[in-house]
Amino acid sequence: MNFEFTEKSKQLQSDISRFMEQHIYPIEKAHDEFVENNRWQHYPDSEKLKSLAKSKGLWNLFLPKGYGDLSPGLTNLEYAPLAELMGKVIWSSEIFNCSAPDTGNMEVLAKYGSATQQEQWLKPLMNGEIRSAFLMTEPAVASSDATNIETSIVKDGDEYVINGRKWWSSGAMNPACRFFIVMGKTNPDAERHVQQSMILVPKDTPGVNIIRPLKVFGNYDSPEGHAEIELNNVRVPAASLIQNEGDGFAIAQGRLGPGRIHHCMRLIGGAQRALDMMCTRVASRKAFGKQISGFSSIRQDIALSRCEIEQARLLTLATADKIDRFGIKEAKDLVAMIKIVVPQMTCNVVDRAIQAFGGMGVCQDTPLPGFWLYGRTVRIADGPDEVHMYQLGRNTIKQSMI
Ligand SMILES: Cc1cc2nc3c(=O)[nH]c(=O)nc-3n(C[C@H](O)[C@H](O)[C@H](O)COP(=O)(O)OP(=O)(O)OC[C@H]3O[C@@H](n4cnc5c(N)ncnc54)[C@H](O)[C@@H]3O)c2cc1C
Repeated sequence: MNFEFTEKSKQLQSDISRFMEQHIYPIEKAHDEFVENNRWQHYPDSEKLKSLAKSKGLWNLFLPKGYGDLSPGLTNLEYAPLAELMGKVIWSSEIFNCSAPDTGNMEVLAKYGSATQQEQWLKPLMNGEIRSAFLMTEPAVASSDATNIETSIVKDGDEYVINGRKWWSSGAMNPACRFFIVMGKTNPDAERHVQQSMILVPKDTPGVNIIRPLKVFGNYDSPEGHAEIELNNVRVPAASLIQNEGDGFAIAQGRLGPGRIHHCMRLIGGAQRALDMMCTRVASRKAFGKQISGFSSIRQDIALSRCEIEQARLLTLATADKIDRFGIKEAKDLVAMIKIVVPQMTCNVVDRAIQAFGGMGVCQDTPLPGFWLYGRTVRIADGPDEVHMYQLGRNTIKQSMI
């Protein structure tokens, strides 16, 4: 493994850092206040910033070069430090059209979508003109086991009819969200992993009812939000199916791998920023006649945080490198490892930073609560920690028996 970044990646790192310094950090507070006070509305300058990022070539960088002309041509290893920089301001990845859940949905459509589906949905998504959501999780069943999903997708002539209830549909509250990728069952009697299919559903289709937005620890995560949605006799043309009946589970696996590593890359950026902020803060305040940075407990917290971030970063780069060289399937154990390690590391590091900031650490004056929330929720989203440990443990035992 050689983690020396290519010239192309280094140039983009410097371009993104400059963009963040010039256009993102200066409006961070104003942006956060606006979205807090204007639910389901975009910050007024967001579109201008997106156009600027696009004009500078800082756009869709997440899509690896295997996607040919659709991709700006980076490997996962080249993209990792760029996503880390974007992770320093949680909402900034959307400015570069690199935000979840659209990135995962774009990969699904780029990999499995028909020419018509790509023209209708992928093109505007890649241009940043619309947003999307991914509807897998259901309130009625333990959705960490995707084979439990109960939503039905039934063929009726040249249409499919969809019935079910979803929740935690991230991005579905976004006023720019135009369509969903819905996972359901086309054949509940088939073998366990081929019962599922994925289908495209325009958000304004009759029978799509947004029941309510869900709060995350009291936050609406506006303007994207997370919705509970009822699908009541929703009819779409048969050509809306992605690939074939029974391919849904395999497509979901292909979608979630890259999504997981992107979350980890961004979380490392959040953790690094928390540590940098902690160092500045403790060097600027005194308690009991001493600089706070001089207390050994604080230095231990800082040292430990630095070790943990670097460990997580190296593991994430190793995962990116393995995906680039051998494909997502071969890298599945490493993807599980980072999914277990990175969100927990972020929570630990950010928690120490919050402690060092005292009361300021828990209020809206720093991005620290947002970083902690992101780490905490990723411990559940895209598969809870325990599920990854369960599968990684099983694979590790299997491999040791060979
Ligand atoms: C902020 C956020 C955003 C999300 N965004 C989306 C989205 O856009 N689209 C979407 O479809 N879903 C989304 N989700 C849903 C998320 O993927 C699910 O919550 C997750 O897969 C767990 O499913 P569940 O909630 O049904 O929990 P359950 O499946 O009921 O699991 C509950 C708990 O049971 C335990 N458990 C389960 N399996 C095992 C095991 N094998 N070993 C030990 N313990 C186990 C774990 O502690 C687990 O947390 C999001 C969730 C959050 C919090």
